[in-house]
Amino acid sequence: THFGFSEVRTTEKQGLVDDVFHKVASRYDLMNDLMSCGLHRAWKAAMVTAIALPKAARPFRMLDVAGGTGDIAFRALKQGGAGVDVTVLDINGAMLAVGKERAAARRLGQRVEFVQGNAEELPFPDRSFDAVTIAFGIRNVPRIPKALLEMQRVLKPGGRALVLEFSTVDVPGLDKVYDAFSFRVIPQLGKLVAGDAEPYQYLVESIRRFPDAATFAEMMREAGFEQVTATPMTGGVAALHLGFRI
Ligand code: SAM
Repeated sequence: THFGFSEVRTTEKQGLVDDVFHKVASRYDLMNDLMSCGLHRAWKAAMVTAIALPKAARPFRMLDVAGGTGDIAFRALKQGGAGVDVTVLDINGAMLAVGKERAAARRLGQRVEFVQGNAEELPFPDRSFDAVTIAFGIRNVPRIPKALLEMQRVLKPGGRALVLEFSTVDVPGLDKVYDAFSFRVIPQLGKLVAGDAEPYQYLVESIRRFPDAATFAEMMREAGFEQVTATPMTGGVAALHLGFRI
């Protein structure tokens, strides 16, 4: 059946994604800097600010889906008050292991928890979190609508979801530079730094297949999010999407 076929395809896709992040886990953060020319730092800072973390010691539980090596979690703990706790969920044990080491080195073990799991089936009860984030993770998930429904389910009413993802460059001129950079430079960087061009080839292609900001905002509305907004960053290289559970 058509359904059976797409099930096979999604399993294959997840397998490919898992291989990519196993190969690159230890060099992952360095590659992020090189591939985005350091811009991912500014984009992530914008997302963490948009969480509206409490400054006071009020308890605030945050979930970072596809949180990998914990980059977003550490930023949130730095920016928010003493009541902020972060759960980092990722499907890949190698990425989480790097994150756990960092949390221990920074003595943040009490405030950040690492959970191996799938964004499509979050292992948390309904209405558990004040905010849910996902940065450069949603495009890797085979069934995006399923992951969005799960993010909505685990949010407390009034809570917000933030999705940061590569988007569609809409600035004339910049699009050509971007094409050359992503199709030529990024796979070569991958080869030099991580020893393999293929995973980065995959990443570039997955970015091209991802819906533009308006389409993705519509997908969030379909998953039940309200007051959805999308903010393009750096000429649309990335976009930050915000939605609330009412
Ligand atoms: N959020 C981190 C950051 O911005 O640095 C990591 C982003 S990394 C590009 C994508 C992450 O998505 C990887 O760590 C990968 O293991 C994870 N991932 C892929 N498919 C997933 C799934 N179905 N459920 C949870 N995590 C997944």
